[in-house]
Amino acid sequence: KSGFVSIVGRPNVGKSTLLNKLAGEKIAIISNKPQTTRNAIKTVVTDESSQMIFIDTPGIHKPKNKLGEYMVDVAQGTLNEVDVVLFLVEASDGSPGAGDIYIMDRLKDVKTPVFLIVNKIDLVKREQLLKVMDNYSKQMEFKAIVPVSALNNEGVEILLNEIKKIM
Ligand code: GDP
Ligand code: MG
Repeated sequence: KSGFVSIVGRPNVGKSTLLNKLAGEKIAIISNKPQTTRNAIKTVVTDESSQMIFIDTPGIHKPKNKLGEYMVDVAQGTLNEVDVVLFLVEASDGSPGAGDIYIMDRLKDVKTPVFLIVNKIDLVKREQLLKVMDNYSKQMEFKAIVPVSALNNEGVEILLNEIKKIM
């Protein structure tokens, strides 16, 4: 099994931390280096049954000018070419803010399945987590919802298995 996975989300939701943890799982890292694509980091994760290429996708945020608009279009194009998009949000955000809603509006035009990844679950109680999952699910349809704590490496293995299922 092999495929491409894009990671999107507001700044500071934990995209880089998650990428590092994914690369650090039992599996071998083939490469984890900055690419020529503007700021995009690609991480290759392999194990005995699969090879997954994770792309930290910058540029899906409200553009401030024409160049910004162009970059959002480019990033959105990328999302149509991958096998799954991971949309990262923070468990402590009760409901989606303007930044998240902007990203979801872009994701609605994308044909690729989207996973909602609720990160930083170490910071909230179970009730809050359920509320967040519910509030985001009302906005758009997700192929899967996976709560994680990238920092504590919680749920990362489950996430990898969910990704493999659709490849
Ligand atoms: P990015 O901007 O989306 O790439 O976010 P980063 O990976 O740089 O993380 C932003 C901040 O959130 C850093 O201080 C991380 O240590 C912190 N962070 C990331 N994941 C978690 C998590 O699961 N729990 C907690 N408590 N903090 C986290
Ligand atoms: Mg980052």
